[in-house]
Amino acid sequence: MQKYLNLIDGEWLPAKSGAVFQNINPADRREVVSEFPQSGAEDTARAIEAAQRAFPAWSATTSVARGRILGKVSQILEAKKSELAELLTREEGKTLAESTGEVQRSADIFRFFSGISYTLGGQTIPHDLPNNLLYTSRQPLGVVGLITPWNFPIAIPAWKLAPALVTGNCVVIKPASAAPALTHEIAKALIEAGLPKGALNIITGPGSTAGAELATNPAVAALSFTGSQKVGATIYTQLAGRMARAQMEMGGKNPTIVLGDADLDLAVNLVVRAGFGLTGQACTATSRVIVEKSVLQPFLEKLSAKAAALKVGNGLTPGIDMGPAVSQEQLDGNLKYVADAIKEGATLVTGGSALTEGDLAHGYFMQPTVLSNVTPEMRIASEEVFGPVLAVLAVDGFDEAIRLANSVDVGLSASIVTKDLKKAMLYADRIEAGVVKINQISTGLALQAPFGGVKGSSTDSYKEQGPGAIEFYSRLKTVYLDYSN
Ligand code: NAD
Repeated sequence: MQKYLNLIDGEWLPAKSGAVFQNINPADRREVVSEFPQSGAEDTARAIEAAQRAFPAWSATTSVARGRILGKVSQILEAKKSELAELLTREEGKTLAESTGEVQRSADIFRFFSGISYTLGGQTIPHDLPNNLLYTSRQPLGVVGLITPWNFPIAIPAWKLAPALVTGNCVVIKPASAAPALTHEIAKALIEAGLPKGALNIITGPGSTAGAELATNPAVAALSFTGSQKVGATIYTQLAGRMARAQMEMGGKNPTIVLGDADLDLAVNLVVRAGFGLTGQACTATSRVIVEKSVLQPFLEKLSAKAAALKVGNGLTPGIDMGPAVSQEQLDGNLKYVADAIKEGATLVTGGSALTEGDLAHGYFMQPTVLSNVTPEMRIASEEVFGPVLAVLAVDGFDEAIRLANSVDVGLSASIVTKDLKKAMLYADRIEAGVVKINQISTGLALQAPFGGVKGSSTDSYKEQGPGAIEFYSRLKTVYLDYSN
């Protein structure tokens, strides 16, 4: 078991109360993976003070110097890739291949923002008068709070931390309690790379106390949150009360539309990867499959066969396609969604049960599940499950497919499978989603491109990832200089 402490002012410290919590391996409850401080609001307040103290010196360094540190972090993470991937799998449950990809992604994110450090200037603007200089300069915000979910426990901290630090902010991050270890591993890499004390602080503990302090403490200038809609809405209101800058990225109910002309093998492949990859625990996972009736039957047959053939088990075992749910609560929630959908009239095509044979009895495993005859009024058609459950809805044609896809109050990612270029382009125009895929899985993002949802999936004021990510973490100052006299 690995024991982690809070990071405050460069020191690894327990919670003031001394309380701790432990994380078990979701693939094998018998294994305690890690232990963390069960911090309260007072611990977070201390971390915020440390970040405030560190800000003048850290923000006075150049972005290029800060970028050099991020570049070293990238190398450290890459060198420790297999060790970190194994830790990620043991803590969160995803397969080793998925964890390895996520660690590599995180190293790449630090490398990307290291390069971006050379471009973080303002703009020179022509003035109305001669011998006058008009320009903008980019400034950090101060202390930035980051609150992250458990499902991408290294990539999401990485894609918030790298732009926050390269722009010169000091950070207090509170990772989700189900999987905080990789945030600490990033911090270790940052310290090894030369990050000064106080520039990054980590607090673990309950969202309602340790996390809430970040939302309510007036010294926190801005807060970037990724997580559920319910929590995001609460924090957004708290930030609005003191007019602090907010970035809330939340859940989705992502559709994949399968049109009558689609290559059905491709469609099934994409839907299986986007629905059951990462155990369905991705904010961009496909959870609604909207299929034209003309191909519904053959599509369902192929989908059912492919879903049933997936190998479910401990993500550390070679050849496993899908790991466990992250927790008992998550597994119970998934199974309840399935049971309720059947009660409401949906048909169980395949899966639907927990897996408890042999070694699987020790973890939170369930079968990849497909439900058909789903109608828009059912809960399963509009609420995020966050598990390996696909709801298949049948439509008469393209227009109905788009209407149905847009009928929910969230809009994160969407995909369509078709050979019809005109319909693909009309879909790209009309679909209400921040990420729009054509003949691709709804999951999977390019780290160099903007990412964020629309509608209830996001506050949609700033994008994450790509060069534009620095907009949230910095502000522009406009400078007028008259040298005519
Ligand atoms: P969650 O909302 O339960 O928790 C997210 C974080 O908020 C955790 O660190 C938690 O401790 C903290 N928190 C909880 N209550 C708080 C409060 N009152 N004040 C401050 N902080 C608080 O979400 P989760 O279960 O960790 O993650 C799953 C959710 O995240 C899903 O809805 C998923 O779609 C979403 N998600 C979105 C994206 C995206 O980029 N849009 C990416 C990944 C996950």
